Amino acid sequence: MKFLILGGGPAGIAAAKAVRKAKEDAEILIATDEKVAPYLRPLMPDFILGDATAENTLDPEAKDLQQKKIKIAYGRAAVGIDTGARAVTFADGTQERYDRLLVATGARCAVPEILQKKSPMIQPFDSWKDAIAIKELASRPGPAVVYGPGYLAIEACRGLRNAKKEVVWIKPFKPRFGYPIAGELEASILDDVRNRGARIKDGDEIVDVKEKGADALQILSKHGDVINTSLVVVATERLPHVGFLAGSGLAIETGIVVDDYLQTSVSDVYAAGDCAEFKDKKGGKSFINFGWRSAIKQGQLAGENMAGGKRRFGGSQEDYFWALFGSSLADRGKRISEVEGYGKT
Ligand SMILES: Cc1cc2nc3c(=O)[nH]c(=O)nc-3n(C[C@H](O)[C@H](O)[C@H](O)COP(=O)(O)OP(=O)(O)OC[C@H]3O[C@@H](n4cnc5c(N)ncnc54)[C@H](O)[C@@H]3O)c2cc1C
Repeated sequence: MKFLILGGGPAGIAAAKAVRKAKEDAEILIATDEKVAPYLRPLMPDFILGDATAENTLDPEAKDLQQKKIKIAYGRAAVGIDTGARAVTFADGTQERYDRLLVATGARCAVPEILQKKSPMIQPFDSWKDAIAIKELASRPGPAVVYGPGYLAIEACRGLRNAKKEVVWIKPFKPRFGYPIAGELEASILDDVRNRGARIKDGDEIVDVKEKGADALQILSKHGDVINTSLVVVATERLPHVGFLAGSGLAIETGIVVDDYLQTSVSDVYAAGDCAEFKDKKGGKSFINFGWRSAIKQGQLAGENMAGGKRRFGGSQEDYFWALFGSSLADRGKRISEVEGYGKT
């Protein structure tokens, strides 16, 4: 039996290992569009800051994949699924057949139209590739601009504090997803961000971006500020990365709609992690349990169920990234791997 997993993040890796535990002889392939070994996404700010090296951001959970006979194929971006033929097509034109499929493609920053210019000085804050580019651009003179409403922007400001004397955080609106950071915690976090050299422009917006040569951008804000910069970090909310599933027949809303067993609307296709959307049958509401710890929990459960198990997802708000951010957000020197719940797969 062939288990195909799209995405080499914590959900994909946990699922692959759970399948292996249940099925010794199964063929298990993780296909990821990234070209680097799986890494700890939450440590990217620490890498930019200089507190973590490339080596210690590697995901320890991925180190024994080969030993467990789990294959990982890099640079393979899925572009479509033919659920009838049980095959996934990749950007390079190749196809991969499956008996059970897991979509664990995570989420990406939603880039507003005004920042969708192709300038390399405008960088989303999603992947290892982005972290490398941000670190390089941060060494150029002038302030950096961080754009986004919530936790990712805080993390971007934190990451930039060594390289930049000035960081301008354009904080446009309240986050739509996740725990709003409010009250005393919000006040202390914002103080901390300010103490680290960031100027916070609350309720402001970017209304124009002009290229001023090869290494300069001019940002105009709604409140009338003009900022000359060579780096804009797009640290907006991360939305499920599911666009490539259009036409696949899977029910998609903001994310991929899954039931309590993480099964999608199509048989033998599961979804887990930041791309999966749950329906709360009682309240009629839906939710996406974003976060590292939840991705591991969901991946593990999806893997078990793909291998024949019948366990329900008992995700709670505590699984959310709050558990990692929480009160320690203001000064997070802690390695994610030391945090309770990590690496228990
Ligand atoms: C800067 C930053 C800091 C964060 N800090 C924290 C934190 O402190 N605590 C916390 O809990 N969470 C944090 N998060 C969020 C956390 O990283 C995510 O919740 C978690 O990684 C989700 O895991 P996942 O496996 O669902 O998806 P991901 O980790 O996003 O992995 C999905 C993988 O699938 C790949 N992929 C996408 N599309 C395709 C495709 N079409 N074909 C093949 N592969 C594809 C992606 O490139 C990626 O490698 C942070 C995120 C960022 C960006």
